Parts: sequence; C-alpha cells; structure tokens
Amino acid sequence: AQERYADLRGLPAQSLCGAVVSLTMNAGLMADLPSLEGSGAEGVGLFRTELQFLARPNVPKRGDLAALYARVMDAANGRRVVFRTLDIGSDKVLPYMRRVDEPNPALGWRAIRLTLDKPGIMRMQLQALIRAAAGRPLSVMFPFVAQFDEFREARAHLLDEVERERRLGHKVPEKVEIGAMLETPSLAFAPEQFFALADFISIGGNDLKQFFFAADRENERVRRRYDTLNVSFLTFVEQIVARCREAGTPLSFCGEDAGRPVEAVCLAAMGVRALSMRPASIGPVKSLLRRVNLEDARAAIDASRAAGDQSVRRAVTDWLGNVLR
Ligand code: PEP
Ligand code: MG
Repeated sequence: AQERYADLRGLPAQSLCGAVVSLTMNAGLMADLPSLEGSGAEGVGLFRTELQFLARPNVPKRGDLAALYARVMDAANGRRVVFRTLDIGSDKVLPYMRRVDEPNPALGWRAIRLTLDKPGIMRMQLQALIRAAAGRPLSVMFPFVAQFDEFREARAHLLDEVERERRLGHKVPEKVEIGAMLETPSLAFAPEQFFALADFISIGGNDLKQFFFAADRENERVRRRYDTLNVSFLTFVEQIVARCREAGTPLSFCGEDAGRPVEAVCLAAMGVRALSMRPASIGPVKSLLRRVNLEDARAAIDASRAAGDQSVRRAVTDWLGNVLR
C-alpha cells in the first residue's frame, strides 16, 4: 500500500491554502523504525515505551533500555524521536507488579500517577534515555498528565537526572525537550504557566475522547457512539489549539484519529499543525491534505456547527465529495 504513495514521500503535507502539516509516525518497537524511510514520516512523534516493560517476566535493566533507545535514535538518523515514558496501569499491567484491583482502572493508578508514586522505575527509565541520547537532543513526553503539578514534578525528576549524570561525568544530551500529553480534559484548563513551561504538548486523542465523552475506549457498546467529528470535541480541540498558540507551545495530535484522512483534515482545519500516526497512514493522510484547502474545510465545519449539527462528518464528507470530484 505504501508503494501507492511513494511519489509523495519527499513532499510536504501542504494543503492548497499553503498550510503545512507535519506528519510523524507512532512506534513502540525497534522493528517499527525502518518504516521511517518507507512512509516518509518526518520523525517519530510518539514512541510508546511500555512494550519493553510488558513483554518480559521482570523489570528491564537500565543498560538494556539505554542500548535499545540508542539504537532507536541511531535508526532515526537525526530525525526527532519523542519518547513517551512508561504508560502502564489501566489496560496495561506489568507481569512483575502486584496487581491492584481497581473498580475503574482507566480512571485509576496509571501512567504518570503510578510512576510519580514509585519514582524508582521512572528515574531508571529517564537515566536510560539520558544515557542513550549522550550528546544528541532528547525529547521526552509524560503521559496522562491531569494537572500542572504532575508535569512540574516529572520534569524535575528528569532535570535532576540530567544533573546527576553530568556530575558523574557522563555525557549528557545536547538539549532536553520536555513535553506533556494532553489526555484529560482538565489539562486544557491548566494555568498558563503550564503551557509556558511545557516545551511541547501532544493531544492523546484516544484517551482524551474517552474522558471527554465519559465513554470507555475499550467498550464496544459505547466506543462508537461519539464521533470524533462531534462539534463538542472539535470545539474543544480548537480551544486547546488557541491556548497553545497564546503560549507559543508547539502542539501535535497523536491518537488513532490522526491517521484517518477525514479526521486529519478536520483536525488540521481546527489549527492542529502536527499529526502522529501509524506509518501506513502517512501516505493516505498526506495525499488528502495536499488535495484540499483547509480554509474551505474550516468553512464547511463552521457552517455545520452553526446549523446545530451534532457531528460535522456529513457536511465535511459532502464538501469533500465536491472538491475531489
Ligand atoms: C492516546 O491516548 O491517544 C495515545 C496516543 O496513547 P495510548 O493510545 O497509548 O493511550
Ligand atoms: Mg493515552
């Protein structure tokens, strides 16, 4: 399928109005990295680090993790890789961790909540990332941040570890970028100091949608009930875009919806300028973005919103049908 989009590989995802959308890929294994070349992704916008923790009977060793992260950076060959720290709990349970029974695991002790409470694992992973980067830029993103202090605390752990490595005489990263995933509605309303402190923000659309609509992403009965192109959700995304713009904070969107061409066009029309997706989606998303005018997409969305539609999908697909004819 990637062959179909091969001619687009070196071209930007530039829409007819001139807006350029940066397209990166999601990964989680060393084996995903070769897709960088084939897909034309500009980098790795989301490297999910939990697999190396899940697929084994005990906690991985720092040295092994550092070696893997270094190989990932080598394979990216200078392109940016955003490493997301351990996102476990909820659906992803470590085999060597005592299972905690929680009535609502998705709302429970997971991701940054768990690693801030047990900083040993977080610090070990951060050390591995710092050592892997040695002399190169490092981008780290914390998952599931619900309030400013969680980000501040996690960020302090990372900066402490960089200092510690420096004192130990180890080579430290050339620069460190620290971002947060916006996956809970609360974070969109954080004080402006949060937006100023974050080097970048990435919307985790899968979780954000789940919490925005209070609809379990794993539950087939409710999962499809709420459209991503629901006006409430798009309006919310628009507000996040505005807050990031005010603060000058780069924003991306890295949930599954980023890889669906119609959704990608709508997100871009709301002002999102970076999307991260599975590698096979880069071609189709780029192809559509290059064929449309985002200002016209926005006009179709706004008209649908003004008409009181629940979802703009119908209006947008009708508009697309005309444009692509
Ligand atoms: C998300 O929530 O959208 C996301 C990218 O993270 P994950 O799917 O790993 O929870
Ligand atoms: Mg998530």
